[in-house]
Amino acid sequence: MWSLKPYKSPPSICPGCREENPGFEEYIPTGIHILGKGACSGCGLEYYYNWPIGHGAHFPVSFDGNGIANYPPEAKQWFAIPLIDTIKKGREVACKIKRTVRKEFSEGLLLNCLDPCYGHVLWKLFNASFYRDITAPSGLIVLIPENFRWLVPDYAAEIWSVEAGLPDLNFKISSLPNFIKEACRSYGSLKLLPVDTHIDHTALDLQQFLPEAPFKLENFYRLPLCITVVWREDRFWLRSLSESWLSLVAAKYQVSWIRNWLLYRQRSKMIGVMSQIRKQIPGVLFKLTGLGTSGSFPDFVDDLRSARPDVDRERAWCQCYSKSHLIIGVHGSNMLIPTALSAGFIELLPKQKISFLSEDILMRHPPRFQTFLGRHLDIFAPTKLVARHAISILKDFKYLYHNTLAAP
Ligand SMILES: [Zn+2]
Repeated sequence: MWSLKPYKSPPSICPGCREENPGFEEYIPTGIHILGKGACSGCGLEYYYNWPIGHGAHFPVSFDGNGIANYPPEAKQWFAIPLIDTIKKGREVACKIKRTVRKEFSEGLLLNCLDPCYGHVLWKLFNASFYRDITAPSGLIVLIPENFRWLVPDYAAEIWSVEAGLPDLNFKISSLPNFIKEACRSYGSLKLLPVDTHIDHTALDLQQFLPEAPFKLENFYRLPLCITVVWREDRFWLRSLSESWLSLVAAKYQVSWIRNWLLYRQRSKMIGVMSQIRKQIPGVLFKLTGLGTSGSFPDFVDDLRSARPDVDRERAWCQCYSKSHLIIGVHGSNMLIPTALSAGFIELLPKQKISFLSEDILMRHPPRFQTFLGRHLDIFAPTKLVARHAISILKDFKYLYHNTLAAP
């Protein structure tokens, strides 16, 4: 385990001559990364490298900030370039870091969950479960964005919460190096926990993180039938390839009228699905969650959306998901918590996300039920097809459930 106190830094490969160098003495905690900095013993090049923690364990990046760099090509756009640019262009963000001590301990184990991607923060946080049973003198410290603090399990001894929005976590947090130096004085040791970014969630007890228990399948026909649609305004349920291009233009050039038009189209598709389901199953309850409040929905929809992240609202959403037979939403980490708690889901997925098919889903049923209750449809899926899947899940699960569980 790499450690800040006593200091133990990992080796690295020079991006210039490929010499392996032992750990450097200087380190820079940027936020997502711990960077080492030093001069190559082979060629003398002064360079930075990321410590092998979290995604850094799979994607080693080393660079000098003047054009010499080495990283796996698959990590270029989303991981290596943002890191190199942060250092090269001196991108920093000033924000408060709050330290909450729940239990006293002398040997700190630091779990760094900082990441600009919502889903990555959650997956990193799930690593806490490996340290559920540690006791004094060791204590778990969770470093996390403030908006995720409510998900930190109660056995964490200490929380360091960073009051920054997720996009800001692409940059260096200017107050973090001094904060860590100061906090280090409290402990005899401070070690950095490895962070697995692809945990097997089926082995996790998610209730240590979430305030509600997941939907119990034996209650499928005991609870009032309920469908929750997850709304988002930065990504759309689309009708065609041309709309897909328009959504890219709207995002890149901040064209608000295109975005508003796509939101209008998305809303009308969602209302279309709900109306078709209501014709077949009149008593279904409809709820709407997610960030963004544009447009209105018919009276039969319980609109729980929020303009901005809000902990009380997120807890209320969890209650709603745990009583939902079905979640419908476009692809993304916005589907993680809903699918951890609901009975089933329909995710609308574009072709470019086929390689990451399971990434947004935390649902855990026996394989046969999982296949029936979890549906991935194309992002261009027409309303009739989505409604047909939803109606089938609500009506036909009874047959599958009872036949699967019936004694011979
Ligand atoms: Zn070198």
